Amino acid sequence: MQSQVIRVEDYYDVEVFDKIKAFSEDKETPFVVIDSGVIDQHYSALIENFPYAKIYYAIKANPALEILTLLRDRGAHFDVASVYELDKILSLGVSADRCSFGNTIKKRKDIRYFYEKGVRLFVSDAEADLRNIAQEAPGAKVYIRLLTEGSHTADWPLSRKFGCQTDMAVDLLVLAKSLGLEPYGISFHVGSQQRDIGAWDAAIDKVKAIFDWLKNECDIQLKMINLGGGFPANYLTRTNDLATYAKEITHYLQDDFGDDMPEIILEPGRSLCSNAGILVSEVVLISRKTSTSLHRWVYADVGKFSGLIETLDESIKYPIYTERSGEREECVIAGPTCDSADIMYEDHKYGLPLSLEIGDRLYWFSTGAYTTSYSAIEFNGFPPLKQYVIK
Ligand SMILES: *Cc1c(COP(=O)(O)O)cnc(C)c1O
Repeated sequence: MQSQVIRVEDYYDVEVFDKIKAFSEDKETPFVVIDSGVIDQHYSALIENFPYAKIYYAIKANPALEILTLLRDRGAHFDVASVYELDKILSLGVSADRCSFGNTIKKRKDIRYFYEKGVRLFVSDAEADLRNIAQEAPGAKVYIRLLTEGSHTADWPLSRKFGCQTDMAVDLLVLAKSLGLEPYGISFHVGSQQRDIGAWDAAIDKVKAIFDWLKNECDIQLKMINLGGGFPANYLTRTNDLATYAKEITHYLQDDFGDDMPEIILEPGRSLCSNAGILVSEVVLISRKTSTSLHRWVYADVGKFSGLIETLDESIKYPIYTERSGEREECVIAGPTCDSADIMYEDHKYGLPLSLEIGDRLYWFSTGAYTTSYSAIEFNGFPPLKQYVIK
């Protein structure tokens, strides 16, 4: 099987690529370059396609100050997962009413910290956590996270660990009310890089059933649905475009809620940032394990521990671009550290040109999300993955 040839124009405006490349030329690899203009465009596309939704940026995808300030200035809200993210976003002048505490796993004292800073919107999926919220953030709005299925069609699932079953969600919302909290809504995350848009349909149906049950049986009127993230970025495995996601999801919402549409929240991370970034790396070594081996090993100066953790199980297949051309041969692609887990792709054989040489640059496309924020700080002495944000 010959892997597909990666062409710049399938992933970037050629001017964007040329600009990033020119910026990269004199810099020591590895590093990510983000073009903030692309994030701006993705944000515009998001609000055009979901005009009725509030956007809560999932900070963990890429917490660069330039990205946070850009989204602040565009009027975004923020899905905050820790006190550190909260401090950072508040220090940029974002008011606490634009933040939610979106992590189901939190210390009691951190709930208090969020509350003292002015945050009034909290997620939960467990009774003990809900009771902590009632004590440390009295009167706050809470939304309950549902477990979702369909993780096999998400390239980076966020299932199992988060959320609870429908019955428990109902019980928790009833309990929230009795604890003096405001039972506000329901959230779910269908899995990151979710390629099956139908995953939202199944989840929205469950949400509708909860809304109805609580209204009819418990006199609780929920007000909000948080549709999570999961919106697509461009990797090797193609997806529908954002407009198609929006059209289908809007249709599911209208089917269930008609004119009685609750407040809708989206929490995008990947879809906003991925395609704004390129990771620039260099080939450190090319070898064969035997003189007759039909594939080469290509070792880059970037790997699983320096930003490419989402290659675990080869989940995310980044398009890898080289300026070399000509006949291609299947390669195993690995990182530079002394750890045999540091192999990015072995099952999926990338075809790289036979003319590729040590010292050549490899451009990893769509690496603007979940790369720098995952990078180890000192494994084998390698520093964390650098990032530049350009306009
Ligand atoms: C990580 C995360 C997101 C972002 O998901 P993407 O698929 O990157 O858009 C949204 N919401 C929550 C609660 C998350 O943990």
